[in-house]
Amino acid sequence: MFGGNGFKVGRILGIPIRLDLSFFLVFALLVFLIATQILPDSLDGLGGAERWLYGVAAGAVYFLSLLIHELAHSLMARRYGMEVSSITLFFFGGLSLIREDSQRPGQEFWIAVVGPLASLVIGLGFILLSLFALPDDTAVGHLAFVLGLLNCFLAGFNMLPGFPLDGGRVARSLIWRLTGSRHRATRASARLGQLLGAIMIVYGVGGLLTDAAIFNSGFNSLWIALIGFLLMTQASQGVKTADLERDLARLRVGELMLEPPVARTAEADLPIHVLAPSRAQLDQQDVFIVAEGGTAVGIASAVQILLLDDERYQSDRLRDIMIAADQVQPLEPSAGADEALQRLQKERTFVLPVVERGRLLGVVGLDQILKALGQGPPPRLDPSAGA
Ligand SMILES: [Zn+2]
Repeated sequence: MFGGNGFKVGRILGIPIRLDLSFFLVFALLVFLIATQILPDSLDGLGGAERWLYGVAAGAVYFLSLLIHELAHSLMARRYGMEVSSITLFFFGGLSLIREDSQRPGQEFWIAVVGPLASLVIGLGFILLSLFALPDDTAVGHLAFVLGLLNCFLAGFNMLPGFPLDGGRVARSLIWRLTGSRHRATRASARLGQLLGAIMIVYGVGGLLTDAAIFNSGFNSLWIALIGFLLMTQASQGVKTADLERDLARLRVGELMLEPPVARTAEADLPIHVLAPSRAQLDQQDVFIVAEGGTAVGIASAVQILLLDDERYQSDRLRDIMIAADQVQPLEPSAGADEALQRLQKERTFVLPVVERGRLLGVVGLDQILKALGQGPPPRLDPSAGA
């Protein structure tokens, strides 16, 4: 949950798995705590080296349980047809990078809730194992119990209701369902995350500065304050993202799109090397409306042309590279810029044709959206906005 890319360690079910640096820190801490403090001295015949080996083994199992938690999120997202780009493990959790936002509150709810559910099942499984199947005076019995508690704690902590925790996404799905507004829900869950972070900071600092029992629960106060700070930072970022989402949703594609003559029109049969005798003549932001006998039939962007290899640059015509208006799901001029942005990301394209009743009106790309956002949303679209 805390940004960064980390080391790629492999792939499971086609999803790249990465480890963040902070993961190694906690792995080492866990191994150390198990070897030196958690395993009781009274265990018979347990040598120093064995204690460390048990520590490493328990660390590896912890790693696997985090991975299962994240895979649960990822596989649920996949079930809804969303693409998962990667999973990164951090020190007390992970991040599944899902390429799209949920389309419905129900999707959001299930994608969020299966992670903590997986941790809870693993945790209860280990606790039951240690209580009923493993002798309790052995290292394995002790470690099963500790791993059980750790996973139950992860499940509980992640269900706290504030973005970026899973519980924040659950809260977002519920608010979304109640209010019908995705943006309001995103913002509310991020605000809850800020509140949660602030409470943890106050609680942690209280524990550091005083001996008062209400601030000293047995958890390390410094850690609580630090985690609270990290939560607050992420949640504040979430509030900004929510505002951006809101601004995007207010912008209409029809107002952003480039139309002729700003978007140049060129005939479909025009060879590319005639349109632009050299690449240097193209501006990355140029887009072309491709016409056939006076009717617009598709669009092409300068970026597409710039990416062609030399052979295709010489031989292709605009028709060969254009995005044909009748081959993509039409983007209506009344659609929000948020929808346009989602489709640009999902379809991995630079531009999309704007089509109304089968007629190509213009073209919209990332550039137009970013420019419009820089100027802020047009005020007339939001009559309810106060000062
Ligand atoms: Zn999770």
